[in-house]
Amino acid sequence: MSFLRLESLTKRYGDTAAAKDISLDIAKGEFVSLLGPSGCGKTTTLQMIAGFVEPTHGRILMDGTDITNQKANQRGIGIVFQSYALFPHMTVEENVRFGLEMRRTPAKESRRRVAETLELVSLAHLGARYPRELSGGQRQRVALARALVIKPPLLLLDEPLSNLDAKLRENMQIELRNIQQQVGTTTLMVTHDQSEALSLSDRVVVMKQGQVVQDDEPFTAYEHPNDTFVSSFVGKTNLLTARVDYRNGQPYLKLGECSIEISDPTRLDTDDVTLSIRPERLELTDTHLGHLIGRVRTRLFLGNHWLYQVESNAGDLLVTLPNHGSMAISVGDNVGVRWQPDAMRILKEQAYG
Ligand code: ATP
Repeated sequence: MSFLRLESLTKRYGDTAAAKDISLDIAKGEFVSLLGPSGCGKTTTLQMIAGFVEPTHGRILMDGTDITNQKANQRGIGIVFQSYALFPHMTVEENVRFGLEMRRTPAKESRRRVAETLELVSLAHLGARYPRELSGGQRQRVALARALVIKPPLLLLDEPLSNLDAKLRENMQIELRNIQQQVGTTTLMVTHDQSEALSLSDRVVVMKQGQVVQDDEPFTAYEHPNDTFVSSFVGKTNLLTARVDYRNGQPYLKLGECSIEISDPTRLDTDDVTLSIRPERLELTDTHLGHLIGRVRTRLFLGNHWLYQVESNAGDLLVTLPNHGSMAISVGDNVGVRWQPDAMRILKEQAYG
């Protein structure tokens, strides 16, 4: 059952379609991310849902009610912006209470809800502080508390963690996910950070040039990208061109000097195909055992794994290998590169743009 429904939602600015024909169903309690590069229309879509931008075409339904023409303040949606937008002259507690005062919530209930929500975001001890006296992560949590205290039917998050440094961001991802699951609020987040979208969401909606190009669970979007754009944007990948050939009626792929079995022959309607193979699915081996032969050009140590750039006869490849605590293959080494048949994804070319 859909709680938030977007029907052919479109926003045009002159000749530019910032969002084009976006249709989406989000179930109650679901956490969905809009993921895509800068300018793909994520914020425009979010702002149409919030009521800050008027759609050119299409409808927005929340819990069965058409809210397309409702004013922003009538929608009762909780929003957390990238900038947090806290009131600097109000304490943490006052910032959180603000939305309840606007709704004329009785004082006793208001006190209880502010206390509960500050507890939820682990800020109960900092209620008397001003935003300038808080760290970035704490400010972010005040913004979240301020959005959640009104018990919104829908929570919109616009790049909520992008002002935080990498370590804090990771911690906040875990906290945000826990809080959202605890409260159960239907949540739509905008991000250009694929790891954030994959780790937080029940579903990832990948956008490009104003359109939805894939809408799937994180694991499916990563493992079965629809096209070359999604495979490169959602995680790192290696794209290789291969030729389809037939032997005794069976299709196989010809890549450089080698022939490779195909585990999924359903997409073979052309002579040349693009393969996507994730760096963690490639293995480095002796040269005579590889599907491809290459030479290690760069090696980066990333703590839990090694990242290699290998110059091969089919182009440069990225390979990640786990760190098992022993010294690894060195720059300049000749290597074979191989993979299991199920590591290959045969892709459509980008269907959009
Ligand atoms: P970012 O990650 O950089 O915030 P985004 O995916 O959120 O990008 P949008 O802000 O939705 O992208 O913008 C989508 C497109 O619409 C862009 O090409 C942008 O230049 C254009 N656009 C957005 N707002 C306006 C406006 N008010 N007038 C004209 N064009 C606009």
